[in-house]
Amino acid sequence: MSSACIPATSENDQAAALRVGGLTPMTTIDFPDALSAVIFTQGCNLRCQYCQNTHLLPTRSNEQLSWQDVEHFLQQRRGLLDAVVFSGGEPTLQKALLPAIRSVRTLGFQTGMHTAGTSPSRFSQVLAHLDWVGFDIKALPEDYREITGTASGDACWRSLDILLDSGTNHEVRTTVHWQLLPPEKLISLAEQLYQAGVRRFVLQNCRTQHCFNTDISPSWLDEQQKQAIYRELNALFPEFSTR
Ligand code: SF4
Repeated sequence: MSSACIPATSENDQAAALRVGGLTPMTTIDFPDALSAVIFTQGCNLRCQYCQNTHLLPTRSNEQLSWQDVEHFLQQRRGLLDAVVFSGGEPTLQKALLPAIRSVRTLGFQTGMHTAGTSPSRFSQVLAHLDWVGFDIKALPEDYREITGTASGDACWRSLDILLDSGTNHEVRTTVHWQLLPPEKLISLAEQLYQAGVRRFVLQNCRTQHCFNTDISPSWLDEQQKQAIYRELNALFPEFSTR
C-alpha cells in the first residue's frame, strides 16, 4: 500500500508510533451492528493461559504494519465501513493509542476497543474518544495470577469501574475455561460484576488449540451443569449471551 495523499499532521506523526501487529479488513462481529475493521496492536503484558493471539504478545514483531499503511487502507474504506476497532494484544499499553484513535475519528469512523484494561490511566484517557468498548474481565482480582500469570487484577478492575462510571456503550465478557474458572468461581465473579454495575455480560467459551499454554487441558463441563449456570447468569443479568 502507498501512503500518498495522507496529510502530514502532528497527530498523524504521533499515531505513526503505534505498533500494529495485524489488520482484519472487514468483520461483522467486532463492533455491535456495524461493519468494522480491526487493528491489532502489538504487545500485551498479560500471559493468559488460553491466549490465541500469541504472535501479538511480544512488544515488537518483524510482521508489524506501518500506521501509514493502516491509515491509507482506512482512507480507501471511507463510506464502506462504519467503525474501526482497536484490539490486541493490549491497546492501552501504547502511548500512540490516543492519537491513533483521534486520526480514525477524523476519517469519519466510529471507534471501538477490545481491552483487558491493564492500564487504567490510559484507558481513562482514551475512553471519551470511543463509541463502544468490549471489556475482557478475566476473573476476580485475586484470581488473575492463576489465569494471566500476573497480579494485574486490581488494575483491570479499576478500569472496569472507570468504564461503568463513564456511560460509554460497552459489553463485559469473560472467557471461561472450566478448569481455570470453575463454576463456583464463575458465579461468584458474575455476582460481583453485577454488584459493580455490569448489566450486559457475555460468556466466551474457551478454545484450547494453539494456546499460549501449549499443555492446557481441554475446557470441559457436563452439559447439564453448563446449562444450569447459563440459566443462573441469564437470571442475573438483563442481557446475557454466550459465544
Ligand atoms: S488473551 Fe490475554 S494474553 Fe492474550 S492478548 Fe488477550 S489479554 Fe493478552
